[in-house]
Amino acid sequence: METVEPKKLEAEKVVSSSLEPKERIEAEKPEALNSSSEVSKKESRRQSNRNYYLKNREKIVAKSRERHWKNRDREIARSRRYYQKNRERIRAESRERYHFDPIYREKQRVRLERWLEKRKEAYERFVKEYGGKCMVCGNDDIKVIIPHHLDGKEEKVPFIQSKEFSRWIKYGIKLNVVLMDANCHFKLHRGEATLQ
Ligand SMILES: [Zn+2]
Ligand SMILES: [Zn+2]
Repeated sequence: METVEPKKLEAEKVVSSSLEPKERIEAEKPEALNSSSEVSKKESRRQSNRNYYLKNREKIVAKSRERHWKNRDREIARSRRYYQKNRERIRAESRERYHFDPIYREKQRVRLERWLEKRKEAYERFVKEYGGKCMVCGNDDIKVIIPHHLDGKEEKVPFIQSKEFSRWIKYGIKLNVVLMDANCHFKLHRGEATLQ
């Protein structure tokens, strides 16, 4: 989108500089100084566009929705690239805004809440796929069940927020983990229990 605007401006410049001086003055006149018939012409064009839109609303909406879905992956990839490139600045601005703007703060809170809600739903699916209970004692209370990494890796962030969980959600990548409840997991890491 941002590449379209400047090009268009370039094109306009070329047109206006190729006109004869008098025509150029005509063309460069600001809208407000144009004759009233010009204004009403514009107004009626706007009106007929509006009517056209109202008449064909469903078709137009469906079309734009279709276009959106067709380009969705590309758009997402692009905005992700943009974020990666400008990450520091975006984060700093967001922090600043979060501090001073209560509406933004509320929006962010709602977003986070929704995100966590989705992750929790996904976690239920995850636990089911990985056996549904503690592999040591059989406790199946999902509130205390966590994955233990068999390759010795323990994440610093809670599993539900981790990137590896994101990968499982998105691509279904198999994780090298077993499920344990918090008790058995704690004992295992304290060396008071072993996996057979
Ligand atoms: Zn257990
Ligand atoms: Zn562990």
